[in-house]
Amino acid sequence: MIRVGVNGYGTIGKRVADAVDAQPDMEVIGVAKTQPNFEAHTAVKRGYPMYAAIPERMPLFSEAGIDVEGAVDEMVADADVVVDCTPSGIGADNKALYESHDTPAIFQGGEDADVGEVSFNARANYDDAVGVDYVRTVSCNTTGLSRIIAPLREEYGVEKVRATLVRRGGDPGQNSRGPINDILPNPIHIPSHHGPDVNTIFPDLSIDTLGLKVPATLMHVHSLNVTLEDDVTAAHVRQLLESESRVYVIPEGLGIDGAGKLKDFALDAGRPRGDLWENCVWGESIAVEGRDLYLFQAIHQESDVIPENVDAIRAMTESAEQAESMVTTDEHVGIGI
Ligand code: NAD
Repeated sequence: MIRVGVNGYGTIGKRVADAVDAQPDMEVIGVAKTQPNFEAHTAVKRGYPMYAAIPERMPLFSEAGIDVEGAVDEMVADADVVVDCTPSGIGADNKALYESHDTPAIFQGGEDADVGEVSFNARANYDDAVGVDYVRTVSCNTTGLSRIIAPLREEYGVEKVRATLVRRGGDPGQNSRGPINDILPNPIHIPSHHGPDVNTIFPDLSIDTLGLKVPATLMHVHSLNVTLEDDVTAAHVRQLLESESRVYVIPEGLGIDGAGKLKDFALDAGRPRGDLWENCVWGESIAVEGRDLYLFQAIHQESDVIPENVDAIRAMTESAEQAESMVTTDEHVGIGI
């Protein structure tokens, strides 16, 4: 069993813990939190040993009726791998802690790329992370773009990617973020930073990205134009994307006309937290003009990186090859059901 600690138990961390817990070859040896909030109580109910991310705050946990196993460095010492899910920038600060215990660690997409030796997407570059100690799982948007670009490159060759990212203003719990009633070019400069982040996965890819922020918490929506090297048909691209386990091509006729109904669909299907781990590509939107492919996809920012973190653990610990890991992850997370 691979012993996994999760440092930072918020939006990403709680999902990573549940996904790891569901795997047959992994166990959650602990989660570290800064405060005994509602997520801490849920973690305890789920049976995850609780560690204090800030040791001086241990008494706060006891006062809230939560037993603490110890301080975060004890969890780090005991783990084979730590998944750092702390807010952007704090992961980099935590790296010294992981290094001091010789514990390999995974960082999230909010960190700068140089926090890890490798930026990781399971579909695109699993092998680059094999045996590596410090890996960064790329952001939700970069994950969503990489899952589309990888098969297109392999099948047809890609000359140029242009993507406009319509980004949710914040996650559902992030009530201090916005906009509440505006449509923001964000970042306002073009191209946005997202393209260079995709280049951490595909260094030689030509890609320009533009970003906007809108008053929504549900999902991001990407408008994608990919100039391919080969002539293709929309039907062939659709078939290719349908064969990708982490891409869901939304069939015509389901009446799913936006992110709201996608989330309803996930909740109706009984998915935990209404998560959509797959890229959701509208089948009807897949169009080809010459060598230019167009499509719309929705990306659930809170959950698409979760299976990637699980695969990164297997790559780093050299416990499975790419295909075996992805199949195992998908099966036990519940992808494709
Ligand atoms: P979050 O704020 O929901 O959760 C972070 C958790 O870490 C919180 O519970 C916070 O209390 C805790 N924390 C703060 N300081 C800590 C410390 N020193 N030690 C341990 N825990 C600490 O944030 P999130 O949305 O889960 O984001 C985590 C990382 O994942 C960031 O790098 C972010 O960019 C990335 N990411 C977020 C999303 C998303 O949409 N939410 C998507 C992909 C990647």
